[in-house]
Amino acid sequence: MSFTYPVLYPASLVAQANGFMLSNTDNAVAVTAESFSELDAWYATFVSSCLQWQGKARYTIALNGTRFAMHLLLLRQYWKKSPSPCQRLHLVVFEEKPLSREDFVIMGACLFPGHVQAQVNELASQWPCVLPGMHRIDLEQGNLTITLAYGEKRRMLKNIHASIDAYILADSCSPAVLAQESYGDWLRYASPQVCVISRVQDESLLRQALKIEGLVAGETRMGDEGKYLALLARSGRPMPVYRADRDRTALVIGGGLAGSGVAHALALRGWQVKVFDPAFAHAKSAGQQGHIAAALTPMLSIDDNFRSRLSRAGALRAHARWRDFPESAIPARCGTLELSRNKGHAKDLIEAVKAMQFPEEWVRNVDGAGASALAGMPIDRAGAYFSAGMLVNPEGLIRILLDSEAIECVAARVAFLLCNEQAGQWELLGADGTVQACGHTVIVACGLQTLSIMQESGLMQQTRRSGAVVPAMPKLNTLHPMGGEVMHVPAGLVKGGPRCIIGGEGYFLPAVNNLCVMGSTYRHNQYAPCTSQQGQQAILAKMPVALSADLAKAVQNNEIGGWAGMRAVLQGRLPVIGQLDHAEGVWIAAAYASHGLTWSSLAGDVIGARLEGEPVPLERDLLKAISPR
Ligand SMILES: Cc1cc2nc3c(=O)[nH]c(=O)nc-3n(C[C@H](O)[C@H](O)[C@H](O)COP(=O)(O)OP(=O)(O)OC[C@H]3O[C@@H](n4cnc5c(N)ncnc54)[C@H](O)[C@@H]3O)c2cc1C
Repeated sequence: MSFTYPVLYPASLVAQANGFMLSNTDNAVAVTAESFSELDAWYATFVSSCLQWQGKARYTIALNGTRFAMHLLLLRQYWKKSPSPCQRLHLVVFEEKPLSREDFVIMGACLFPGHVQAQVNELASQWPCVLPGMHRIDLEQGNLTITLAYGEKRRMLKNIHASIDAYILADSCSPAVLAQESYGDWLRYASPQVCVISRVQDESLLRQALKIEGLVAGETRMGDEGKYLALLARSGRPMPVYRADRDRTALVIGGGLAGSGVAHALALRGWQVKVFDPAFAHAKSAGQQGHIAAALTPMLSIDDNFRSRLSRAGALRAHARWRDFPESAIPARCGTLELSRNKGHAKDLIEAVKAMQFPEEWVRNVDGAGASALAGMPIDRAGAYFSAGMLVNPEGLIRILLDSEAIECVAARVAFLLCNEQAGQWELLGADGTVQACGHTVIVACGLQTLSIMQESGLMQQTRRSGAVVPAMPKLNTLHPMGGEVMHVPAGLVKGGPRCIIGGEGYFLPAVNNLCVMGSTYRHNQYAPCTSQQGQQAILAKMPVALSADLAKAVQNNEIGGWAGMRAVLQGRLPVIGQLDHAEGVWIAAAYASHGLTWSSLAGDVIGARLEGEPVPLERDLLKAISPR
C-alpha cells in the first residue's frame, strides 16, 4: 500500500526593502544580498576547509533546505576552486516548501551577485516544478548533481537512498533550521567517514545521534566565533565500494526503449556499453522500427499511488534527459489532454487533479470548450491537461539514445547467462552455447524474453543456506504478452490532426510526417501481433472526436497502414527495475507494459545511480515496489 503525500505548497516570496521574506519554514527567513556575501564568508573561513572531498571519486553533501540555492552556488564555486576536488559532487536537499521557478528567478536576479548570474540562469533552466517526490538537476556534464527531495521532511528523510559524506544542517544565516527533525533522522545515511556542520548548542544531541549510528566523533572544528561546529566522525565500517570504482563496462540485453534508456544513462556516466539485440540486424531502432509516434503522459490518481508517483518521476526524468533531443526523436512537446471517462485509472481524473493541487503548469482541469481550444478540434468532454505530455518518435528516440561512441550495438540474441565463478564474471551465451561476451554488470532488458532468459539461466530460483531451493522472483512469473496495434492515418483525412495529444479510451496524436497515430488495441497473451481491419475498427470506436466517413471508408478498403507490437506486462502493471538480490551484477529493466517512454530514462538513471554510488533519484519505497523480488 502506498502512502499519500500531504499537499505540497510552494514557499511564498515577499519583497522587502532590502531583499525578500521567504516563508519556506515555520519561521519565515529574510534573504538579502548580504546573506550571500555573509554565507560566502562562512564558506571561505570555515566550511570549505571542513569538507573532506579532496581526491575522492565522489562526495555527497546533504543540506537542509533554507537558502539552499545560495549553498548550491557556493558549493559549486568552492568545489571548482579546490586544489584537488572530488571527481563528482552530489548534493541532496530537502525542501518542504520549495520555491517555484518564477520566484527563484526573481530572487536570483535581485540578490545573487553578477559573477554567478550565468549559473543562476543555468539552475533556473532546470529548476523543478513544485511537485512532491525526488527531482534531479545535472550540471557540469553530470559531475555535479543536485537531488531535491520535495515533501514533508520527516517522510522524505526516511525515504531516500544515498550515502552522505557531509551534512550542512545549519548555517550562519539560519540558526534554527533543525526545529522539526532530529539528528538521528539525518544521520542514518551517514557514510563511514562523515563531517557534520551544525550549531554548537546542539553538540550533545549530535554526539548522541552519531553514537546511535555507530560513529565515533573525532576532531571538532569551530566556526563563526564559536557558533557553529564541524564534527568529523567515523565508524569501523569500510567505505562503500561501488561497481564504478572497479570498472565502468556493462552488457545490455535488448535494444528497445528499456535497453537503450539504460545504455544512454550509463554512457553519460562514462561507461562503455555493449547492447545485444538480434533486431539490430535490420535497424538500430530495434523492435520499435515502424512505430512513428507514441505518447508520454504522466499518470495521476486520487491517492497518489505508486504508479502515479513513479510515472511522475519517469516523466520528469524523461524531460530532463531528452531536453535537447531533436525533432526526429521528440516531434512535439505539446502536452496531453486526458479526457475524463467512466472507467480505468482516469475515472477519477478530474477529482484527482482537484485533490492533489499540483501546480497548473503540471496539470489543470479543462471543460469541453477549453479541451477543444487545446486540441484545435471540437471535443464535448471535460478533461485534464498535462503540459508535460510529449509526442515521441520511438524509432528516432532509440537511435539518439544509442548514438554514442561509448555504445556498441551487437546484432545477436542472448539465450542465457552463466556465472563464471573463477573470473567472477557473467557470461552471455547464444542458443548454441557460444560465449558472446562476459562482464561484471549485465542488464537484462528484453521485454517478455526477460523471463525466459532468467529461467534458462536458472535465476528464477535461489538456494538458501539450508539447501532449500525457493522461488527468487515470484512476481516475474506473471510476465505475459499483451499485443496491440496503432493506425497511421493520413493527416488530410483528419483535418490535419489534433494540436496536442488526446487521450481517452483510445489516443489520437498530432501528425508526424503527415501521419496521425491513433491507438490502440490491447490483446492479452497475443504473441504475434499484427495490424488488421478489425483492430482499426476497434480503434476508431474509441476515438473521442467525430471522424469523417472518408476515414471509415479508407479502413474498410484496407488503405490505412499501422504498426503492431507487443507489451510485456506484469500483474499490477509496475515495471521491474533493479538488481537481483541473489545474483550480484545482474540487473533487470523490463515489464514496461504500455509506458515504455515513461520508464526508459528513469530506469537508466536508477541503475546508473546505484552503480555509481550517487543519490538515487527515486524514493526508497518506490525502489522496493519495482525491485525484481
Ligand atoms: C501498439 C502499441 C502502442 C504503444 N504505445 C505506447 C505509447 O504511446 N507510449 C508508451 O510509453 N509506450 C507505448 N507502448 C509500449 C512500449 O512500446 C513498450 O513499453 C516498450 O516497447 C517496452 O520496451 P522494452 O525495451 O522493454 O521491450 P521491447 O520493445 O519488446 O524491446 C525488447 C527488445 O529486446 C530484444 N530481445 C528480445 N529477446 C532478446 C534476446 N534474447 N537477446 C537480445 N535481445 C532480445 C528485442 O528484439 C527487442 O528489440 C506501446 C506498445 C504497443 C504494442
